Amino acid sequence: MIKSNDRRKDSIRPDTRIVYRNMYQDRYILTNDTGPDMESYRIILADRSGRIYGENMSFSFMLDHDPHGLAEYEHTEGSFKELNPAYFERNTAVDGLIGQAVGDAFGVPVEFLSRKKVREVNLQDMAGCESGLSFESYWNNTIPAGAWSDDTSMAVAAMSSVTANNGKIDFDDVMKQFLNWWDRGQYTSLEFPFGLGGTVDKAFRRYRSGVPALECGGRDFKDNGNGALMRIFPFAVYCIQHELTEEETLEVIRKAGSLTHGHEISTLGCFIYTLFLDECIRLRSPDTAYFNVVKLKMPYYRSLFYKETMDAYDMLFNKITRTGFDPDAIPETGYVADCLTTAVYCILNTDNYEDAVKTAVGFGYDTDTNAAVTGSIAGALYGLSGIPERWLNVLEKKDELAEFAERFSKV
Ligand SMILES: [Mg+2]
Repeated sequence: MIKSNDRRKDSIRPDTRIVYRNMYQDRYILTNDTGPDMESYRIILADRSGRIYGENMSFSFMLDHDPHGLAEYEHTEGSFKELNPAYFERNTAVDGLIGQAVGDAFGVPVEFLSRKKVREVNLQDMAGCESGLSFESYWNNTIPAGAWSDDTSMAVAAMSSVTANNGKIDFDDVMKQFLNWWDRGQYTSLEFPFGLGGTVDKAFRRYRSGVPALECGGRDFKDNGNGALMRIFPFAVYCIQHELTEEETLEVIRKAGSLTHGHEISTLGCFIYTLFLDECIRLRSPDTAYFNVVKLKMPYYRSLFYKETMDAYDMLFNKITRTGFDPDAIPETGYVADCLTTAVYCILNTDNYEDAVKTAVGFGYDTDTNAAVTGSIAGALYGLSGIPERWLNVLEKKDELAEFAERFSKV
């Protein structure tokens, strides 16, 4: 198996060079290698806009699979940075956290509505939960437009902890910050916390009664709500920025999830999310990311997780990209496997932030969390400029969120 550190040698860096382009100038061959022997280079393929759709290939492998052949290519010199200047300007922590918060806030007013009802409502803008809406909101009259919920609060609490600890993860302190959120109203979009999930509540009770932080997460099958996945984004960014190997990433993600959700099914969901986010950011191509992280790595996951755990993700592994797949086969629940499947489905079947998040909300029931998880990936993938301004303009504490993420990414 290729370790993620080895993999990164073949991925895009600021000094990645363009060595060939085809005569239509819509396909570029890039490499990080230097030296005279082009045949031994490991190459990366990119299109005109710098979207990567193949990497870590040899020249001969590429030529075997290219219908046109090298005759249509010519030597050229340049850098990937010239091809796609925006690639290195992104800040994943900021883009993803704002993407998560916007999705979360967009989904809040229709939380717990059925799929059928949500599609009837067909939300286009950030709505408040006032009465007089065309639908009855669960949060009747309590939550204004643009307010993000527990999902984003817990992600911000985790970010804040890591930032305060100078970039180190202290899981006990992360748990303390979670309690500061729920018990003291810190890290909230309004002046009060809202949206606490049942499994998270149980974990908080255990912690208050003296159970060590890493043992607080429920380990029953029924503890597999999406409450760890919805707040795992900061830890995913931590693993990506530190270029951890897959084994190290799994270790961090397992512990981060275990604060509230200790079952393997939740762990595997958070782990796949992290690797998928990583590939989406590097390749800017969700289809390739899905293939690399979900399809190719199935045997790897199988070697680490029980069969029942793998079976929980059957739809994600085997069904969502099949032709004729009916997305309504994904159940309307708050189950972690359904949430990840929804998020990946939405990313694969849209090509911009707004459509991804609207599609996620359209799955109904746990609309804010589905949209928060989808939004974190879509935000990181399309960047801050891809998020609709009319949504951003009403987001509560937008600047504070961006500052939180900025500080987090620096430590
Ligand atoms: Mg929520």
